[in-house]
Amino acid sequence: MRIIMLGPPGAGKGTQAVKLAERLGVPHISTGDILRHEVAKKTKLGQAAHKYMAAGKLVPDDLVIEMTLKRLKAPDARKGFILDGYPRTLPQAQALDKAAKIDAVVNLFLDPEDLVKRSTGRWVCPNCDAVYHVLTNPPAKRGVCDKCGSALVQREDDTEKVVRARIRTYDDLTEPLAAHYRAKGILRDVYASGHIEEVHQRILEALRK
Ligand code: ADP
Ligand code: ADP
Ligand code: ZN
Repeated sequence: MRIIMLGPPGAGKGTQAVKLAERLGVPHISTGDILRHEVAKKTKLGQAAHKYMAAGKLVPDDLVIEMTLKRLKAPDARKGFILDGYPRTLPQAQALDKAAKIDAVVNLFLDPEDLVKRSTGRWVCPNCDAVYHVLTNPPAKRGVCDKCGSALVQREDDTEKVVRARIRTYDDLTEPLAAHYRAKGILRDVYASGHIEEVHQRILEALRK
């Protein structure tokens, strides 16, 4: 299965992508995670991407397209993948159309104020990319990753101001992609409210259709 997770920042794409990837035995490929590691390592790509990410803007298409298509060519992605955070623009979607046949696009939707609450309460593991929430999905030990024991951090773009800018970026540039995939007959709208497991079941149900 080749699946795309579409939806605004904070909708739960990453959380649900991890569960789906485990269930289907395919890699979870998050362009946000890849970019954050590039920024942390201060690579050329990371240095070019950082200012856009910090401001809640999109990293330029040419950089993201090259990075993502290269990742999709890795051997582990041959059997399928859950793509999270890509595509975000029409040129990105068109580049992907040429590279891979997508089976389904899970389109998560949620009330904007809930998006803000989810993102501003998010804590992430800089080592293994696990995602937590202070209120709704806390780790067993405060500030420590359940999976690898690293100290959790807040993303620098998860302040309320930047979250709102990211939601605007999404509405302007990414939301129109739903129509692109709806026209192909592969879009599956899923309401992202409720418990993580409940949303997971909704996604499985939507994928059976
Ligand atoms: P996205 O990848 O779409 O930005 P995440 O998966 O990182 O979203 O989730 C955003 C935040 O909301 C995280 O803190 C996560 O733990 C939390 N979260 C995800 N799904 C749910 C849910 N169904 N209910 C409550 N909180 C959730
Ligand atoms: P979220 O899960 O909250 O939507 P991501 O982790 O997917 O956020 O992305 C964080 C930031 O990384 C984005 O705001 C953007 O600057 C950059 N980014 C990630 N994926 C892409 C992409 N496909 N195109 C352009 N920029 C991207
Ligand atoms: Zn970890």
